[in-house]
Amino acid sequence: MSRSAHPAGPRHADVLTEGHYSAPPADLNALDPKVWAQTVERDADGVVTVGGMAVTRLAEEYGTPAYVLDEADFRARARAWRTAFGTDADVFYAGKAFLSRAVVRWLDEEGLNLDVCSGGELATALSAGMPADRVAFHGNNKSPEEIERAVRAGVGRIVLDSFQEIVRVAHIAQSLGVRQRVQIRITVGVEAHTHEFIATAHEDQKFGIPLAGGQAAEAVRRALQLDGLEVIGIHSHIGSQIFDMSGFEVAAHRVVGLLKDIRDEHGVELPEIDLGGGLGIAYTSDDDPREPHEIAKALTEIVTRECEGARLRTPRISVEPGRAIVGPTAFTLYEVGTVKPLDGLRTYVSVDGGMSDNIRTALYDAEYSVALVSRASDAESMLVRVVGKHCESGDIVVKDAFLPGDLAPGDLIAVPATGAYCRSMASNYNHVLRPPVVAVRDGEARVIVRRETEEDLLRLDVG
Ligand SMILES: *Cc1c(COP(=O)(O)O)cnc(C)c1O
Repeated sequence: MSRSAHPAGPRHADVLTEGHYSAPPADLNALDPKVWAQTVERDADGVVTVGGMAVTRLAEEYGTPAYVLDEADFRARARAWRTAFGTDADVFYAGKAFLSRAVVRWLDEEGLNLDVCSGGELATALSAGMPADRVAFHGNNKSPEEIERAVRAGVGRIVLDSFQEIVRVAHIAQSLGVRQRVQIRITVGVEAHTHEFIATAHEDQKFGIPLAGGQAAEAVRRALQLDGLEVIGIHSHIGSQIFDMSGFEVAAHRVVGLLKDIRDEHGVELPEIDLGGGLGIAYTSDDDPREPHEIAKALTEIVTRECEGARLRTPRISVEPGRAIVGPTAFTLYEVGTVKPLDGLRTYVSVDGGMSDNIRTALYDAEYSVALVSRASDAESMLVRVVGKHCESGDIVVKDAFLPGDLAPGDLIAVPATGAYCRSMASNYNHVLRPPVVAVRDGEARVIVRRETEEDLLRLDVG
């Protein structure tokens, strides 16, 4: 990503080294379609609309902050993934990015499968009618109760993450008289983030069983012997917010290498390979994500080529995009509370939410963009930091961005690309209430996750 200091930007040395801002965009009223949901536009009065609804009206009806989700965009992205991979592959939406019953229904209707990683996510999926055989259950420490519920429900696959879990799932399945379909999650020594990947000893993390030292091969050996398990494939997930396909190339090469070793040792060709998720989206105009059909083509070619080299039948591929489907479909709508210029530094814009509705900036140093959405403005741009209302100086939503210099309390601003890992990671820090998720489509809005109330908070406090 190229970064250059704003010519009229701050002079303070610390800020210059710390800042991540690009030059201000030529037109602050423009909405880059890369970072905004598909149906977002600015109307003739300068008000931003989504799905045909003005944000001013959404704010009046549903309050702020609110996550506003473009349902048509969600469905279009889900369908694009489904279509790109065709019938010879499976697309599992990673529910941890954002899960609600409405989302489960949309996925079901669009023909996607679903990844869950906890009893709560499984309960959400089942309560919205997702067929259990299209659900995959992940996680490095599933409880025996969660495993039992998943097996009883008939989930399509459980992704085994440790030697202990191999035995645990086999035992539970056998006691229920079931042969559970499982994949074994391995770590291939590749870690990919954004534009780079590192192919070294990245087994040093909690997920999966290392390929190194023959541990993954040993896991397969044990699992194949257990009556309660039907081993259907190998699973690998290499990172998040990835743009560069070379990490997948190395991962596929190593996974196929294991499939070949398994064939040679056991005489079985496992029928599936799961390459995980982690495909990147545009949070700012500097990001250039790939389209699902390019990703599908690249992954299919890589796996096919590797399998030809190893003289294996090409297994069925599955992928698990979360962020790439839901991330771009939503923005967070905030009302500006205070505007505080700090001489020679920047202007702090405080909104009515913060790290409780978007922890990614504090947690991962994530970058976001922001726009004034309740009106257009011709004012000069100013360098801002959008901060929340929490009692914590790290409570930053957008670290560096430009907004019009006439920004004032009461204006509505929106942070795009907050569909993934924002509501799902939201907290009640400072007893701030979690915002609703409002889905908009064809000029109509409906709440799919309602705003938390003080009553909700107090109900848990039984002291
Ligand atoms: C988190 C995760 C995903 C989804 O990652 P995204 O970055 O949202 O695409 C997919 N598979 C597994 C196993 C994961 O842990």
